Amino acid sequence: MTPQRPAPRPDPLEAQYWAHVAQGRLCLQACDDCGTFRYPPSPVCPDCESAAATWTDLSGRGQIVAWTIFHRSYFPGLQAPYTVVSVETAEGPLLVGNLIDSDGPPVIGSPVEAVIQPADFTDGTSGRICHWRRILPPGSLKGNTP
Ligand SMILES: [Zn+2]
Repeated sequence: MTPQRPAPRPDPLEAQYWAHVAQGRLCLQACDDCGTFRYPPSPVCPDCESAAATWTDLSGRGQIVAWTIFHRSYFPGLQAPYTVVSVETAEGPLLVGNLIDSDGPPVIGSPVEAVIQPADFTDGTSGRICHWRRILPPGSLKGNTP
């Protein structure tokens, strides 16, 4: 059994994000006119005001731009300590999620990749959720710190 997390409560626009994650895909809206990726989802592009957008797969890559370690458990299935990172995706938008590797404290600028894993939610439903893990440089040994 995977840890119980709060169930997503998406609005109609964000429901598409969760529907794609449930399929194992990390997708965001991309503007059909200027190509800009955006998150949170919106009915119009903030760059060109076009209403045309397509949910498009991200590369799943990004870098850590902020992080924190929670030392208190707010949900029984999510035991502290756990690390939450803000990731600037390669496509631009920032996404927040848990850092699931155990390679020591996060470092700003560390490259990460998305990992979509099954999750059980506190409302009794289950689905998938996007986490992040650091991408180690070729030749490095897991667990080594500079
Ligand atoms: Zn646009």
